Amino acid sequence: MPAFAVVTSDIIAQLQSIAGVEQVSIAQADLALRARDQSHHAAHPGDVVVWPQTGQQVADILRLANACRIPVTPWGMGTSLEGNPIPLYGGILLSLERMTRIVAVHADDFQVTVEPGIGHKDLNAALARHGLFFGPDPGANASIGGMLANNAAGIRTVKYGASKDNVLQMRVALADGRLIRVGSRSVKQSAGYDLLHLFVGSEGTLGVITEATLKLYPIVEHMGAALAAFDSVADAVQAVVAIRGSGLDPAALEFMDAAHATMLREAEGVNLSDHATLFMEFHTPNAQALETGLSLVGSICEELGAVSFRATTDPAERRRLWHARHASYEISVRKYPDQQFYLGDVAVPISAYPALVQYIEQVRTDYGVPLYLIGHAGDGNIHVELPYATDEEYARCVKINGLIVRQAQDLGGTATGEHGVGIGKARHMRDEHGEALDVMYDIKRLLDPNGILNPGKIFPGHDE
Ligand SMILES: Cc1cc2nc3c(=O)[nH]c(=O)nc-3n(C[C@H](O)[C@H](O)[C@H](O)COP(=O)(O)OP(=O)(O)OC[C@H]3O[C@@H](n4cnc5c(N)ncnc54)[C@H](O)[C@@H]3O)c2cc1C
Repeated sequence: MPAFAVVTSDIIAQLQSIAGVEQVSIAQADLALRARDQSHHAAHPGDVVVWPQTGQQVADILRLANACRIPVTPWGMGTSLEGNPIPLYGGILLSLERMTRIVAVHADDFQVTVEPGIGHKDLNAALARHGLFFGPDPGANASIGGMLANNAAGIRTVKYGASKDNVLQMRVALADGRLIRVGSRSVKQSAGYDLLHLFVGSEGTLGVITEATLKLYPIVEHMGAALAAFDSVADAVQAVVAIRGSGLDPAALEFMDAAHATMLREAEGVNLSDHATLFMEFHTPNAQALETGLSLVGSICEELGAVSFRATTDPAERRRLWHARHASYEISVRKYPDQQFYLGDVAVPISAYPALVQYIEQVRTDYGVPLYLIGHAGDGNIHVELPYATDEEYARCVKINGLIVRQAQDLGGTATGEHGVGIGKARHMRDEHGEALDVMYDIKRLLDPNGILNPGKIFPGHDE
């Protein structure tokens, strides 16, 4: 890691002249609030928070930081789960929280151009009056910039894709102070290297997104939800593969183990039994297609041994169910108030999902530890939640997660389906990418030769 310079009063004065006095803070409260994300990784504050308000200000801040060798860590909403926005080496915490404008709604093109700090829920609330919405939905009100930087996905990705599938054009500020446009507003693009998708998923290590044009979908009128409960995890995940293979097109296909279903019932009062459960949602253009879809999915689940199946088109009930599903992580955390959570995020091709889940079940038995399973099953993505309190238990979580990651990679999958690499997954990148990781280093060095952009992330080397 290169040696960084300290943030002096002269640097602060220069930041104030770029962004304005009110947009720069060294107050402990501002630094502490942005010293950690929602993961278990330890907090580390920046030395100064800056809230730029234009793309040009972002570029000017980067040019200054690069010339002075000051680390810069971009910050969206801080909801990451792998330590991605923690300013490990101090320096400038570049918060995009005040760049929240909707620049233009291109309703006829099903597109919107936004600044990066807007939350996706806030964006969707504003788009509703145009009858449009942005598809990817991580549970938290993550910022668009943070979602693109992590390539976030979520419950609707099975139908609407991940963040990378829903962006057409971005403006990106580079370490040397250039402000470039990547991509275009055309849905079809084949003009040279795909720089757009180089920056998507780069977690603020290659540049800072200052504007993005996103793809949108019309809000469908007909939505239905279904719940299927199974005696065994194996039956439930087998049903996932069958539903995906049936040609049905779920808008969400989520899995949770019996322990999670019980927690949700107790905490949220939703009508769930103590069984491995599939949560599903369907979006269709008319009522008949919805009825047919719900009936077909019911038959598949019953054939595969569901002990119960319930479908609803009642909007209030559907919202209640999804609210409970979204709250599941917080509910787990609340259940263990004196413990921390180690959260895994592996993904595999859908046909390998049953084998992966079976392996995780075996690990649970072998280690005799509390271990909860929940995931976006329709995408082959699963989160393993492991509570821990002591250093010894933490070391065991790292070991168990390492085994699960290795199994997912061996099954043709990945160490991280949607949370990104951050600090937590860096140790698995060599296994995942082999020599391609060296090419990533080369790209990083080309765009950020002084290593100022979000140092300590993605690449192995930073000791946790
Ligand atoms: C309860 C809960 C549920 C979640 N569920 C899901 C889920 O289902 N699916 C999912 O994918 N994620 C999920 N997440 C994780 C999280 O919401 C996502 O990782 C999200 O993308 C983080 O966005 P953020 O705005 O909070 O970004 P931050 O956490 O602030 O930053 C994320 C990364 O992007 C960088 N960054 C931020 N803004 C920019 C920018 N403008 N330009 C360049 N880099 C930038 C940061 O440096 C950091 O590396 C969940 C989190 C919580 C707390």
